[in-house]
Amino acid sequence: MGVLAGRTALVTGASRGIGRGIAERLGRDGARVAVHYGRNEAAAKETVAAIEAAGGSAFTLGVELGSPGDAEALWEEFDRHADGLDILVNNAAIGNSRPIEEIDEEEYDRLFAVNVKAPLFLAKHGMTRLRDGGRVINISSGLARTAAMPHNMAYAMAKAALDVLSRDLSKVLGPRGITVNSVAPGLTTTDNTAEFLSTEAGRAMAEGISALGRVGAVDDIADVVAFLASDESRWVTGSWVDATGGSLT
Ligand code: NDP
Repeated sequence: MGVLAGRTALVTGASRGIGRGIAERLGRDGARVAVHYGRNEAAAKETVAAIEAAGGSAFTLGVELGSPGDAEALWEEFDRHADGLDILVNNAAIGNSRPIEEIDEEEYDRLFAVNVKAPLFLAKHGMTRLRDGGRVINISSGLARTAAMPHNMAYAMAKAALDVLSRDLSKVLGPRGITVNSVAPGLTTTDNTAEFLSTEAGRAMAEGISALGRVGAVDDIADVVAFLASDESRWVTGSWVDATGGSLT
């Protein structure tokens, strides 16, 4: 029996990339997984199929994040499938790599609505569904703490704000035995980074900054999240877990 048998997990943005890897891993560990997606229902169904093929249980949950009422809509949909939650993984996010001279207000507002506001309100409205002893895991980025990379400024600002949410929410939920942590990936191979990593220069840069000399894989991140989701991480809360393969050293 998996270490998460009997638990229910919700992974936002689990149709693709890191979120999909996390959903599949938590499913293998025995959790029933709510596979959330924004637009790509077909891909979310593939994630569910992969979890079921490995002997697990999962269902899809489609709600576009980034507009008022999004979190409540997601939880209403969730309630139709499950009775309570043990693990919330705030993974869905959008990227942005524009210098300050080019970013406009609309883009900034969208970035913060999806990457910061949605996780906060998912946590707020999820608190009543989360069972005591549960887990909240926010997917941050090494960019929140790396040396300044100004062309990623707005994205890095959003991830830094998410890290404050992890820190402060850990105090709110701690009395109930619920831990809250950030996991910060470095450059990881997903749709998001495919174009950059397909160039020789991009790949060489990504490999060069990692102490381990390679680009991150989705499973590298999913394994860290699996630890934080498990009982073995019970004494870790309010923390920022560097999952950059040593790219910040
Ligand atoms: P991808 O772009 O590959 O996947 C993003 C996922 O989020 C998709 O499932 C997508 O769903 C969902 N999503 C995006 N926007 C919305 C929205 N508005 N509403 C609902 N769902 C949405 O991302 P990655 O896997 O690369 O990144 C996952 C996380 O890891 C993010 O938080 C990212 O910031 C972080 N990260 C990634 C790094 C990397 O190198 N890849 C490095 C550092 C951090 P759908 O397709 O169905 O719309």
